[in-house]
Amino acid sequence: MSLKIFNVLGREKQDFEPLQAGKVNMYVCGPTVYSDSHIGHAKTYINFDMVVRYLRHTGLQVLYVQNITDVGHLLDTGEDRILRKAQQTQALPMQIVETYTRGFYADMDALGVVRADISPRASAHIPEQIKMTQTLIDKGHAYVADGSVYFDVTTDEHYGKLSNRRMTELEAGAREAVRDEKRHPEDFALWKRAEPEHILRWDSPWGEGFPGWHIECSAMAKKYLGETFDIHGGGVDNIFPHNECEIAQSECANEVEFARYWMLTGSLTVDGVKMSKSLGNVVNIKDALRDYRPEVIRMFMLSAHYSNPVDYSDGALDGAQAGWERLYGAVRLTRSAINNAPDSADGNSFNERLDKAKAEFDSVMDDDFNAPKAIAVLQELTRDVNTLLNSGAAVGKSTLEAINSVYNDLGGSVLGIIPAVDSANGSNGQREAGLVQILIDLRNQARKSKNFAESDRIRDELAKIGVTLEDRADGTIWRAN
Ligand SMILES: [Zn+2]
Repeated sequence: MSLKIFNVLGREKQDFEPLQAGKVNMYVCGPTVYSDSHIGHAKTYINFDMVVRYLRHTGLQVLYVQNITDVGHLLDTGEDRILRKAQQTQALPMQIVETYTRGFYADMDALGVVRADISPRASAHIPEQIKMTQTLIDKGHAYVADGSVYFDVTTDEHYGKLSNRRMTELEAGAREAVRDEKRHPEDFALWKRAEPEHILRWDSPWGEGFPGWHIECSAMAKKYLGETFDIHGGGVDNIFPHNECEIAQSECANEVEFARYWMLTGSLTVDGVKMSKSLGNVVNIKDALRDYRPEVIRMFMLSAHYSNPVDYSDGALDGAQAGWERLYGAVRLTRSAINNAPDSADGNSFNERLDKAKAEFDSVMDDDFNAPKAIAVLQELTRDVNTLLNSGAAVGKSTLEAINSVYNDLGGSVLGIIPAVDSANGSNGQREAGLVQILIDLRNQARKSKNFAESDRIRDELAKIGVTLEDRADGTIWRAN
């Protein structure tokens, strides 16, 4: 295993050694489901999707857990995000949760993000959260105050080790309003007493209430991955307090190390500005998908190292699109050439070029999942593929199939930027590709019989629905806008 990961815990690149040989247990903080998913979510989950896909590509067996936060994630004002949305829309909280959970999956599916193996919901794991909270009380790390339970950060000498924050900074930032019932301003809630109007409430040893946000990840990670597991991921914006509190809770309750490698994705801005509802610059995934193919959005998100920030803008996306079209153009050319290629086993010399690309790809991905460099490896390969295919020499079927399989494997299975079948967006892609091919064949028959009015008509009608044909010496290829 030559994979190296930059471990945010300790801030150094380390050799990745899973706890159990051949297996990776991985947890990534999931979304709070109270509004449409935006392109910030797309960045986080596309990056971890790339990580999981690559780990599996290397032969590791990955158990990927990503939670759904459907209770307990409060705003700075102390309001529950989901309850507030429910009140605004006169819906039940669980209707909000259901609506936006489905929306999240629809968006992620559209982006080709492979679903986690387990997607536990916070509201379905209340007993586990109560149990861990009780353990923390029993071990002297937490205390009850008027029906709420708080974690006493002064009992954890390692508190702050992920985010490198010191207590004095924390004290300065704490909110006045909740100081009273807490022993120290930086203590955080494991369980909150439910006010009468709070609908999401459960019985507990401390009265009716609901769990704090952080405890769900500690309790659910433990349930599905064990007390100590390999990789914990999330967006860098949640490093404090959320991830820091997860570590404190888990390590104080379990008295063993929590996650061994911490990977955090960089943030996303839009036109150089942080996305916020008040600025009105939030780009939802649905909006982005109206303008760009999912593969282009993935290519854009993977064009920066996962830990780096990216800036989303039309110019940047158009750039990603141009790069993607060059890559995908070569893939389509390869695929269309396969049908007419001679069976002879020629051009074996290109296999060496393919082996080189595969080795380079694995080598840059082994270096902390360097997807931008992996894309560059495919782009360099593409230059040579184009040279080969445009050279005029006959290229054998086996060589073309080998090229196609490298694109499918590295660009498709690992990065998710090369579709398995030539198609426009959507699940009916294969059928659409077949239909377009029938029309191309009809047009070619018309051209052969010199019925140019008919062949032009087919080309123009296809153009009207966004399908562009390109006649080449070796046949006609198509592209969907
Ligand atoms: Zn979490």
